[in-house]
Amino acid sequence: MSDKFDVIVIGAGPGGYVAAIRAAQLGLKTACVEKWVDGKGAPVLGGTCLNVGCIPSKALLESTHKFHDMKAHAKDHGIAAADVQMDVKKMVARKDTIVKNLTGGIGGLFKANGVTLLQGAGKLLSGKQVEVTAADGSVSVHAAENVILASGSVPVEIPPAPLTEGLILDNAGALNIDETPKRLGVIGAGVIGLEMGSVWARLGSEVTVLEAMDSFLALADQDVAKEAAKLFKKQNLDIRLGARVTGTEVIDGKEVKVQFSDSEGEKEIVVDKLIVAVGRRPLTNGLLAGDSGVELDERGFIKVDEQCRTDMPGVFAIGDSVRGPMLAHKASEEGIMVADIIAGHKAQVNYDVVPNIIYTHPELAWVGKTEQELKNAGVKYKTGKFPFAASGRAMASNDTDGFVKVIADEETDRILGVHMVGGIASELIAQGVIAMEFCSSAEDLQMTMFAHPTVSEAVHEAALAVDNHAIHIANRKKR
Ligand code: FAD
Ligand code: AMP
Repeated sequence: MSDKFDVIVIGAGPGGYVAAIRAAQLGLKTACVEKWVDGKGAPVLGGTCLNVGCIPSKALLESTHKFHDMKAHAKDHGIAAADVQMDVKKMVARKDTIVKNLTGGIGGLFKANGVTLLQGAGKLLSGKQVEVTAADGSVSVHAAENVILASGSVPVEIPPAPLTEGLILDNAGALNIDETPKRLGVIGAGVIGLEMGSVWARLGSEVTVLEAMDSFLALADQDVAKEAAKLFKKQNLDIRLGARVTGTEVIDGKEVKVQFSDSEGEKEIVVDKLIVAVGRRPLTNGLLAGDSGVELDERGFIKVDEQCRTDMPGVFAIGDSVRGPMLAHKASEEGIMVADIIAGHKAQVNYDVVPNIIYTHPELAWVGKTEQELKNAGVKYKTGKFPFAASGRAMASNDTDGFVKVIADEETDRILGVHMVGGIASELIAQGVIAMEFCSSAEDLQMTMFAHPTVSEAVHEAALAVDNHAIHIANRKKR
């Protein structure tokens, strides 16, 4: 057995690699175990997010947005761009280069911070020992004072749509489509389904999204969901709600017949590619020996408390493999919290202030409570809303769809939620996050000076609108 580590992290996704770097920065002797290898057997760091999730999807979204904007809107600026073409293979290669640079960078960060990388599949044994089975089959066992489980998640597969090479794809397969399909089917109108659907709709695919639930984006504020539904319809995303996929059939190895049932009965569509985006499940296969002392909950997530402690003292779990939203930034913040706790510091994650973003165009972003949540909880609140159509900068940018909505407590004025649909909502939402993290009132935002002309002024105006003081729109009622 090798020397004892202060911390062994299993998994090098945005939860695990961030936890390992933080732990090493705090002076702890740290190792990170990662099983993912590339075709040459070299370790692949960065997990789902960097390799087949957040980053590659945003690279494709950015390329296709630029293409579509040029085609559809260059003329609005007086630019003649008659023959705009997309080289899909080049677009995919650009995405691959970004992924390679970023994931390679993590190896560099490990070296710079003194994190030991242990290539192999990690398994937690009893007594906080970690067994590592390398890609070449060799097995080593390492002891640790503390273990952080950060094994992440994998796509949910559904029996009616078994993955089929080149035709029925999960998120990893979807990111490697290198020719625009004429007809694309997507199962699931969640974040991944909408983002992937948008990529290909912008390149001209006829996209049909089949969603089993009757409501659209049920977890989002319904103002956001309604606005998004309207805009997606204009973008030719055919989103069918209440449509449960019941079967698929590959025809001549070339196309896929998708059977689904909705309120009118049994239906089918035929598509050239089908993306299955019905959610993700925690990955814990082979992670825990029977006597590791760590328990799973009824849904297969590793059981943890608010500070990510498992049932086994000294063993923590973070990220997609534990309760809470499956988001990279949530995983990373948990990683930092746990490293700090291990180093003897006080730390916590504010789960009330987790930003959510869907990177369609316009983007959808929110933080805090929705109106429906507040209504259900019987909380009295006031809202202020400002449309980008009234923003000078948004007009100059030709990006006037959407709005910002601020929700504040009726009595205390404390901001309870910020919801938006807009061109760069993913960046603007940080203002709501910071405001909420600092327990701001709507008045605090009202009294803050925003640079002119910026789309951020919409956040200011929405805060002003909470008290009917917006300047650049007519307020709901006169004071
Ligand atoms: P992962 O990133 O899944 O990493 C876990 C790592 O652990 C993997 O590298 C795995 O190989 C390794 N591992 C597992 N078991 C073992 C073992 N036994 N031994 C050794 N190694 C092991 N989130 C956002 O916040 N923003 C986005 O824009 C976004 N876009 C997404 C787009 C797509 C298409 C997908 C699929 C996901 C997206 N997500 C996004 C979600 C985000 O990727 C995850 O929330 C995030 O990766 C979770 O981080 P993690 O560290 O918990 O797990
Ligand atoms: P998310 O978890 O945000 O990625 O969303 C996944 C979506 O897929 C959810 O809205 C589910 O309702 C939807 N879904 C799951 N199974 C099916 C199915 N068989 N047919 C259609 N939609 C489904």
